[in-house]
Amino acid sequence: MTTTPPEEAEADTGSDDAPASALVTARRQLERAATHVDVDSGVIERLKHPTKVQQVSVPLEREDGSVEVFTGYRAQHDDVRGPYKGGLRFHPEVTAEECTGLSMWMTWKCAVMDLPFGGGKGGVAVDPKQLTADETERLTRRFAEELRDVVGPTKDVPAPDMGTDAQTMAWFMDAYSMQQGETIPGVVTGKPPVVGGSYGREEAPGRSTAIAAREAVDYYDRDLEDTTIAVQGFGSVGANAARLLEDWGATVVAVSDVNGAIYDPDGLDTHAVPTHEEEPEAVLEQDAPETLSNEAILELDVDVLIPAAVGNVITADNADAIDADIVVEGANGPTTFAADAILAERGVHVIPDILANAGGVTVSYFEWLQDINRRQWSLERVNEELEEHMLEAWADVREEVEAKDLTWRDAAYVVALSRIAEAKATRGLWP
Ligand code: GLU
Repeated sequence: MTTTPPEEAEADTGSDDAPASALVTARRQLERAATHVDVDSGVIERLKHPTKVQQVSVPLEREDGSVEVFTGYRAQHDDVRGPYKGGLRFHPEVTAEECTGLSMWMTWKCAVMDLPFGGGKGGVAVDPKQLTADETERLTRRFAEELRDVVGPTKDVPAPDMGTDAQTMAWFMDAYSMQQGETIPGVVTGKPPVVGGSYGREEAPGRSTAIAAREAVDYYDRDLEDTTIAVQGFGSVGANAARLLEDWGATVVAVSDVNGAIYDPDGLDTHAVPTHEEEPEAVLEQDAPETLSNEAILELDVDVLIPAAVGNVITADNADAIDADIVVEGANGPTTFAADAILAERGVHVIPDILANAGGVTVSYFEWLQDINRRQWSLERVNEELEEHMLEAWADVREEVEAKDLTWRDAAYVVALSRIAEAKATRGLWP
């Protein structure tokens, strides 16, 4: 195991929008937010760097008997408020730098939700579509073993992310528990309920995205019944957000997957469209009056646009063409730093990922509490408490939007940074 500080990211601080990694964007956002809050510059400096980034080799025996070695990472950004917390992704583009940037976002996300966690993120650079189920299980178990020293229910608690799911978490938990000699469900969250997972965890990021969209629509004096919505990405986040918003009265006019979008100006029946998990890449096979490209869905004339697929889809190249009044970030990092400034200038309100999709980690927190207490909550209780947490966080951020005339992103950062800085000042820098 080696420690790889992702210093290469330091070089890319220019204004060119295209190559910005999650880490570069996260640092720029931090610097920007720091100008709006009275925080010691030493604290900001510390927050620009992760505590630790583990890099591990993950050897895998393929079905044909050959051995392939993949590279895995776990970035631990900050734990001043509690154990590191955040997902593990299986994706070909996973790097130390990307994990570090994403782990910073987790630190802010947990703080804005006032959860007793810090930020972490990790993953393996692998295309999960190229693995059989058995290979995925072996890869997950070996990755869990390589990370055994750095994770734990009071140290660092992984969860699902891109390319991983509840089953991945069950394998991770099993591998960890078997080596520790006892069942430790709290080492990861996002597990199936039968092995200590929480009801409602899988739908939670989509649910919170829908709640954020609903609150934003209300804040800008509109009625959900008269609101049109486009959702880019029909995985768990996009599909759950789309279906809830439709149930609450909104008109979801377009949804997409990697192949393109379907569009009906009178509204789609989003419950009839299979999610990526139910049937991958099936959106274009559904009956709809029109199909659109993946670029076109982002530029639709709708009230609310929900990017819920991958990062960096709203860039300096298309920010001027975004026609929605409100963007609610279901994905992590869908808007580049430059695009964010263009949208703000144009008066498009962006509800940031660290607030909008924070339902995932919030229900992860509920799951962690249930694991520690060995007592499962009902789905009703989970959804009620999630609603409460979201409304509290929404009110905290709204207060900063109004008091300092900030964008929703800057306001969310101010809330998060103030909490983290206070904890750092109270604990002190040692030695
Ligand atoms: N991967 C999710 C996120 O980006 C959830 C993390 C968690 O539950 O720890 O927020």
